[in-house]
Amino acid sequence: MTTVYSPVDGKKLYDVADGNVEEAYARARKFAPKVAEMSPRQRAEYCKKLQYYIAENRESILDRVIAETGKSRFDALSSEIFATLDVIHYYSLHGPKLLKDRKLPFSLAFMGKTSKIYYEPLGVVLVISPWNYPFYQAVVPLVNAFIAGNAVVYKPSEVTPLKGLVEEVLEKSGFPAEAMQIVYGGKEVGQRLVEFGADKIFFTGSRNTGKKIMEAAAKKLTPVELELGGKDPMIVFEDVNIERTVNGALWGALTACGQSCTSVERLYVHQSIFEPFKKTLEEKLVKLRTAVPGEEVVKNLNLDVGTMTAKFQSAIVSEQVAAAVHAGAAIYMPRDHYSDLHLSPVLLTRVTHQMEVMVEETFGPVLPMTSFKTEAEAVEMANDSPYGLSASVWSKDLVRAERVARAIKTGNVSINNVMYTEANPGLPFGGTKDSGFGRYKGEYGLYTFCNVKSVLIDQQSNKIEPHWYPYTPEKYAALSKLIDGMFSRGASLLKFISAGLRIESLAQKQKL
Ligand code: NAD
Repeated sequence: MTTVYSPVDGKKLYDVADGNVEEAYARARKFAPKVAEMSPRQRAEYCKKLQYYIAENRESILDRVIAETGKSRFDALSSEIFATLDVIHYYSLHGPKLLKDRKLPFSLAFMGKTSKIYYEPLGVVLVISPWNYPFYQAVVPLVNAFIAGNAVVYKPSEVTPLKGLVEEVLEKSGFPAEAMQIVYGGKEVGQRLVEFGADKIFFTGSRNTGKKIMEAAAKKLTPVELELGGKDPMIVFEDVNIERTVNGALWGALTACGQSCTSVERLYVHQSIFEPFKKTLEEKLVKLRTAVPGEEVVKNLNLDVGTMTAKFQSAIVSEQVAAAVHAGAAIYMPRDHYSDLHLSPVLLTRVTHQMEVMVEETFGPVLPMTSFKTEAEAVEMANDSPYGLSASVWSKDLVRAERVARAIKTGNVSINNVMYTEANPGLPFGGTKDSGFGRYKGEYGLYTFCNVKSVLIDQQSNKIEPHWYPYTPEKYAALSKLIDGMFSRGASLLKFISAGLRIESLAQKQKL
């Protein structure tokens, strides 16, 4: 049993009982063949129904999401509704095409044969999600896995389970609700779901939990995809438009109150514009409208920064800031915190990589900022992190910006924008280093949920393959010639054909 609390006023919202792991798997296993039997086009049609329902009922969905997360309504509209719809739209449109059997280009060595790839379902995919984007993190992995032909067992976070909401959306939209079995509960339920054995685990959450899941999954060799935390750097060169770039930095650091895996968590500004950049940041930070206790959050269309979602996360944020200040960081905070969930956004300067706030994920409304002298130094600082999820590079010089984008060890980079790779559902999303591995979304992300099967089709005939028995000295010599004709320095088409014909004729004569 879990109790869910409102981040807006701290009051209890509801209790939710732990789900039954065995029953959920049994139902998913039973329904998985039905999903697999549907054509990708049929699945896409179901996804379209889901898309229309979410678009048409977005306001009531938003009420529920904000009541549990404390997000500003605009944040929730863009990241939970728009972004979710965009992915559904992408897969409804492109999924069936991407899942068609693919024929490989013809090669001389395989004359008379056809090589194909089939994209087949895996069966039952277990999706475990975090609390920061509870609607998006439920629907997007579902659609990804479903369009590829799988059934899903889904465990939302115990912090923001959105009890009953996703079930209602699936049922009322006309989507086959049996395709997604929702199991409520916390860590122990998550552990049992992992141990029970899915055909694939798609996990989004913290690095530490990711490690535990991978360890547990290894016992049954269940494949895992891990979408973990980040400590995203933003690198700003001297030739930027300061006004626009400051706006980008503020939004990147503070959207969802900084509780996004791809939030800007470290800001590196060229020393020649450090002071004017900082001054503009401070001027704009003061103007942001942040959540105030007792004032409307759910229906407030003028709110920029919402509340923190969970008290335990606020405590981590406050501890990191206090430790940085203790170690010499300068703090700019436009107002005091109103409560432990209503945090004031914070700008930190005089920070170093010896401080936790510059290396560990903060996941709150904090922007630590320092300067760099050279491009090499900026890259070195950006890469001085255990994480590698996303990054942004800002410069008018696009050649330089792309050079830096290549040099940063990360899964995603936006140039002259922030968190924007995520806005294109055709781009795969995922991390490197401690941010995890694997990709979802886009073409690459679709195949994450497929058994990519290689198929070679030959004709029925009396022809014997040259590499079949019996092995003879003549065939050995002919194969050696073929290697020379194909791969040695003097290789040529003529030599290849002549050796090929020789070995072929030997194979047909020297039969077992
Ligand atoms: P978390 O790791 O604490 O929990 C995530 C989920 O795992 C929850 O549903 C939880 O109940 C479950 N869980 C916990 N222990 C488990 C176990 N031993 N076995 C199975 N399940 C278990 O993470 P969180 O605090 O909910 O989310 C915040 C983290 O998620 C941050 O690090 C953030 O960066 C990351 N995140 C990453 C992405 C991404 O796409 N890379 C997106 C959003 C959030």
